[in-house]
Amino acid sequence: MIQTILLKNRPQGKPSTSDFEFVTEDADLKINQGQLLLETTYVSVDPYLRGRMSDAKSYVPPFELNKPIHSGVIAKVIESKNDNFAAGDYVSGMLNWKTKQVSTGEGLLKVDPSKAPLSAYLGVLGMTGLTAYLGLNEIGKPVIGETLVVSGAAGAVGSVVGQIGKILGLTVIGIAGTDEKIDMLKTKFGFDAGINYNTSKDIKADIAKAAPNGVDIYFDNVGGPISDAVFFNINRFSRIIVCGAISVYNNTEVPKSMSVQPFLIKKSALMQGFIVSNYADKFPEAMKHLSGWLAEDKLTYTETIVHGFDNIPNAFIDLFDGKNKGKMIVKI
Ligand code: NDP
Repeated sequence: MIQTILLKNRPQGKPSTSDFEFVTEDADLKINQGQLLLETTYVSVDPYLRGRMSDAKSYVPPFELNKPIHSGVIAKVIESKNDNFAAGDYVSGMLNWKTKQVSTGEGLLKVDPSKAPLSAYLGVLGMTGLTAYLGLNEIGKPVIGETLVVSGAAGAVGSVVGQIGKILGLTVIGIAGTDEKIDMLKTKFGFDAGINYNTSKDIKADIAKAAPNGVDIYFDNVGGPISDAVFFNINRFSRIIVCGAISVYNNTEVPKSMSVQPFLIKKSALMQGFIVSNYADKFPEAMKHLSGWLAEDKLTYTETIVHGFDNIPNAFIDLFDGKNKGKMIVKI
């Protein structure tokens, strides 16, 4: 029996389970020469998938209606007629939300469960770790002693950004949505300070208090009013990495937002959009650092693991309610 999740509707506002359709087939998958039969082990759910569910033009094409959704997946090779892979290997790649599927092996990377838990290859040793490392270094250009503010700080990307900031000698302030998350930032990930945006009476003033020397680098995962509050605190020649804007992903109208140009002009600041795939030539360098720091215990990570193929849509939707700490992953 094979289960597949299709995109049934383009979500309006926050996605709901009715936007997804489960299909069950009683098929016996056969592979041809050069192909692999894969069994899904872990599925990554990520905020960027929301963009692909709408039909607006973006840097990647939208998902097609009534077709399987795909995202980062770890799968086990259960049969191989491809010389590059053997039965029993684990692979990571962009694969369909299916319990079993056939692949040509194109775009798949072998991952080694003896070096790190398999789920880590979807997080700190996967796309979100690369995003944290490359966004911070390539656009943030950190200099020892500077102050870094990270929004979405307790999530997959943010929690790694903050730790890399500490490794590189920065003062790090994280913004997240619960006291429990703020506590985790400070005790588990070594952030210097944290601000709960849901309880803060004045985020702008709280950032000023936590960053008395001003903000040199802002790693933005959320956009919206939280980011507006950071702009009031940026220093001359500061760098703003626009990695994500989850606070507006479910908007049905173009949001009215603060005009940032005066802040950028006054402070000669740089604000640049970031897409991890633009830096593919730097992935080996980034992986070397991320895996090295993990092995040396300079870097750690947390995950929220949801169990069961049926729960993939719910795990995805829960990202928009902040139900995850660190990387949100579904174990099949
Ligand atoms: P996270 O693990 O950070 O999960 C999402 C988190 O966002 C939630 O836990 C929640 O935490 C927070 N959040 C949800 N709604 C809001 C809101 N309205 N306002 C503020 N915070 C909110 O996700 P990722 O680490 O995977 O991704 C972080 C960001 O980076 C996303 O915007 C994503 O699209 C982007 N991204 C961009 C990439 C690129 O190449 N440009 C690559 C990878 C990710 P809380 O409880 O704190 O609210």
